[in-house]
Amino acid sequence: FLLAFEPARRLGNMNVRIQRDIVPVKDMFDLLEDDTDLETDVPAVPALAGASGEERGLRFEDVSFSYGKNAASIKNISFTAKPDQMLAIVGRSGAGKSTIVNLIMGLYTPSFGRIVLNGRPQTEFSLSQLRRSISYVAQDTFLFSGTVRDNVALGRPEASEEEIIEALQRAGAMEFVEKLPQGLDTPVGDNGAKLSGGQRQRIAIARGLLKDAPFLILDEATSALDGETERFLRGNLQQMKQGRTMIVIAHRLSTIQEADMVLVIDQGKVVGQGTHEELARDNAIYQALFTTGELKDNEAA
Ligand code: ADP
Ligand code: MG
Repeated sequence: FLLAFEPARRLGNMNVRIQRDIVPVKDMFDLLEDDTDLETDVPAVPALAGASGEERGLRFEDVSFSYGKNAASIKNISFTAKPDQMLAIVGRSGAGKSTIVNLIMGLYTPSFGRIVLNGRPQTEFSLSQLRRSISYVAQDTFLFSGTVRDNVALGRPEASEEEIIEALQRAGAMEFVEKLPQGLDTPVGDNGAKLSGGQRQRIAIARGLLKDAPFLILDEATSALDGETERFLRGNLQQMKQGRTMIVIAHRLSTIQEADMVLVIDQGKVVGQGTHEELARDNAIYQALFTTGELKDNEAA
């Protein structure tokens, strides 16, 4: 299903890979379908995983992008996401948040400007290297009809049982997984149908954490999460950012309050940057996100 949406760079990049590596057709589909990589035995990209000090983090330098011939979806965006910190990106629907994520993941190439990951221009990395280095937890991550264990292990197929359990614990999922009839080996049903939305998201987060990538991008669910998931997120964001650069597309005040920095996007531009307190005091567009319900107060969530 991804193919229908895939832009030129991704396909172009695959063509290069096919010529270079002669990827079997089956693996090609794996590349398109899920989070595993063609070369699971290759360690995380050293340049991305092992950068140190000043170099770490993610930077947008004057990035603009248009989908095809459409008007620019993001315009002259610059920001820095620092390592061991959490950057929250907020903005109303259509502001350009997903476009920023799409660009970070290399699904599209900036029309102008550049993206720098741990000190290196993004263009130095193949799509496969980027995928290995970025853990992306989507709003509604796809679970396949295997067991809880299978679904988490997709993040890193060679992980041990202890590592899978640790990831589930850190994702606040172990409490309910323990109560499932067959624990880790319980089938989750078609696309996780046997689990609640909040449980599915916690499994997806466990998968993302198990991957242990230097960049973690979390697209927070817009729909109300169950109270347990909400409490978990509140309590664990600080730990999730340790040792990596973390970006959250945030919809909830409780999440935004945990962020070290908040970036406000409107009509494809950066219109504010600061802590929640600073923006709530000074930034009219930020304030409006709460009055229009784009951002949810803690009570409402
Ligand atoms: P957000 O995630 O903040 O809701 P998006 O990044 O999805 O916003 O969208 C930003 C702008 O780009 C919107 O005007 C949207 O209509 C447009 N857009 C998003 N995806 C595509 C696409 N695949 N093709 C054309 N326009 C798109
Ligand atoms: Mg979006």
